[in-house]
Amino acid sequence: MNDRRTILIRYDEIGLKGKNRNQFIDCLVKNIREQMRDVEGLEFKAPHGRIFIYCSLESAEVCSRRLQKIPGVASASVGVTRPRDFDALAAVGVEWIEPLLQPGRTLKFCVRTNRADKSFPYTSPEIDREVGSRILHQLHSRGLEVDIKAAGFVLEIEIGQDETVVFNNRVPGLRGLPVGSSGEVLGLISGGIDSPVAIYRMMKRGCRVHGIFFDNRPFMGRGGYDKVVKLSKLLNAYQRRSRLYVVPFEDIQVAIRDHCRPAHRVVLYRRMMYRIAQAVAQQKGCLALATGESVGQVASQTLENLNAVSQVVNMSVFRPLIGMNKLEIINEAKQLETYDISIEPHPDCCSVFMPPRPATRAKIKDLETDETKFAWEGLMQEAIAKMECIELDASTV
Ligand code: ATP
Ligand code: MG
Repeated sequence: MNDRRTILIRYDEIGLKGKNRNQFIDCLVKNIREQMRDVEGLEFKAPHGRIFIYCSLESAEVCSRRLQKIPGVASASVGVTRPRDFDALAAVGVEWIEPLLQPGRTLKFCVRTNRADKSFPYTSPEIDREVGSRILHQLHSRGLEVDIKAAGFVLEIEIGQDETVVFNNRVPGLRGLPVGSSGEVLGLISGGIDSPVAIYRMMKRGCRVHGIFFDNRPFMGRGGYDKVVKLSKLLNAYQRRSRLYVVPFEDIQVAIRDHCRPAHRVVLYRRMMYRIAQAVAQQKGCLALATGESVGQVASQTLENLNAVSQVVNMSVFRPLIGMNKLEIINEAKQLETYDISIEPHPDCCSVFMPPRPATRAKIKDLETDETKFAWEGLMQEAIAKMECIELDASTV
């Protein structure tokens, strides 16, 4: 079993959770297991403060890639488990460093130890020295030198309670909390740049986020729908299981366009979206709504207009992008790889149904007067009755 690897998985925030700690860890282990379900021959263990996966070298590569997409993972290292014996630990260093040495060139290295098990009778610097000197002794004549500040190769050793792991890589994770540890949220997703980023941020807070899309297909064609489905599949990779609700919105938009003050249209559309989203959330067991709004970004996102939309619902509305500027959001969308899908050309509802001069400070009383001009309750129930539900799972990724 020479190629047997140990993947050491670190989490950070979970460690702070006091009495609920085990629940969070169980949730993270469950998510990791699910994400690796199709990889054969894995063994899992979750001793104090860490999660370990034992596997073959090939599987380690697959797992390490997937771990980067699991909220709650702070970082991961692929290494090997060894006895707590300086010679055995140094042998790993020699095995890994030797192929990197080239005639006539020096390679600088150091050993860095993290000793979680304080009962081990050597301190971390002592272990660094013991293992480092053994490696140096064997490879010094081939150009190996110790340099703690500018090492080109760092051999890391973690002395845990019941496991000693040697590794020389750290793959950063997403951090945050495992999906499923914080309950379910309904995210308003529009096919633009912002809402996918908002949903991603809520997933990283441990929420399972289902999407709701208000579709005006007869006017815009399938473009918006296809984009939102694509984005939802991409986002689902982080949570593996979610739903996308598609609500036909054209009748409501037509009613607002034909009966209400043009300057109020955008806020009135948005109030209807919020009302429907709340009703669906309540029906489906979601505890809050999430949107991609950010203060001052567009006419509908002034403080007055944000208040005017919040006012029609009584459940929490999370706006994780509220204080971000567009450039920061774009950067995050690029990292998330939703950006290229979001910018695919397609007219969104607002650009066609948008009045020439939307009100930036709509008064709630005036909006309510507008809403007496069409039978919104009936239209809302009709839209919910015609709603489509798309189940997303691992196979749709
Ligand atoms: P985005 O890039 O998310 O579309 P935006 O800058 O275009 O954002 P708006 O169009 O004003 O902003 O929408 C603000 C938020 O309202 C969106 O982030 C989304 O959460 C929600 N929203 C807007 N249109 C829709 C829609 N058709 N279906 C679902 N949610 C929507
Ligand atoms: Mg939009």
